[in-house]
Amino acid sequence: MANIIDGKKIAAEVREEVKKEVAELKARGITPGLAVILVGDDPASQVYVRNKHRACEEVGIYSEVHRLAAETSQDELLELIEQLNNDPKIHGILVQLPLPGHIDEKKVIDTIALKKDVDGFSPANVGNLVIGDECFYPCTPHGCMVLLDKIGVDPQGKKAVVVGRSNIVGKPMAMMLLARHATVTVCHSRTRDLAAECRQADILVAAVGRPELITGDMIKEGAVVIDVGINRMPDGKLVGDVHFESASQKASWITPVPGGVGPMTIAMLLKNTVEAARRA
Ligand code: NDP
Repeated sequence: MANIIDGKKIAAEVREEVKKEVAELKARGITPGLAVILVGDDPASQVYVRNKHRACEEVGIYSEVHRLAAETSQDELLELIEQLNNDPKIHGILVQLPLPGHIDEKKVIDTIALKKDVDGFSPANVGNLVIGDECFYPCTPHGCMVLLDKIGVDPQGKKAVVVGRSNIVGKPMAMMLLARHATVTVCHSRTRDLAAECRQADILVAAVGRPELITGDMIKEGAVVIDVGINRMPDGKLVGDVHFESASQKASWITPVPGGVGPMTIAMLLKNTVEAARRA
């Protein structure tokens, strides 16, 4: 039976570390600041933004939320980002995605100053991640790496399989594992034999968005399983991309859903914001 990776507890530890770092910076006269921009009234996005704001307050990060109407023009949004780029109180800028259809997401993210891109989604930041230069690690995969570190699993020399190749999770996850000297395979919807690829993994990361796609028979005995997936079932229950019951029979460590990777994302956003303030 696998050990459970307690993301809630580990995220709380990270937030405590951040709180101390914020206090140290404040003692030097620097208050880390995060600006969050929300366009429109998507209910899930509203919850995420509220949670981010609250998490900032708890650790002493200054945070301001800019709530813009759904019909806000792209130019108005870009103008606000430019203002925040030049605002010395603000060290991190986050635009909550998705944006309304009339706004070019790519253009918006690319307008955020590189040194304030705490989500790490801009092309320049991603480029730096790939070449191993100073950058911000995108929050969700960064959280997965911290989970591995906290349970004492070193990726070096291990076979890692990442299922999913999105720009926000799968691809940066693969790059971070590679940077830590894992041998990395990235799987996606066109992968021929997903089960066979997964069975090779010492570290298996699932970021697919398909409920319980990865079952116990696809997992190597003793593997570490990180489940990024969050899927809401018709009965309201949340499940991951991994079938927890069968997978936990094979894995040595596994993240639950909820309470695994989920709580780490905001904790890493706080960490990146403090890092941005320190670099400034
Ligand atoms: P995307 O939909 O952007 O990407 C999904 C990826 O999975 C794609 O690369 C797709 O392949 C691949 N895929 C889809 N079906 C299959 C299949 N049957 N076999 C193999 N690969 C497949 O999702 P995200 O990366 O944004 O999110 C993934 C999951 O993680 C979601 O459940 C999401 O809710 C969750 N999530 C959780 C976060 C957290 O804080 N814990 C944060 C972000 C996401 P292809 O490229 O070929 O289409």
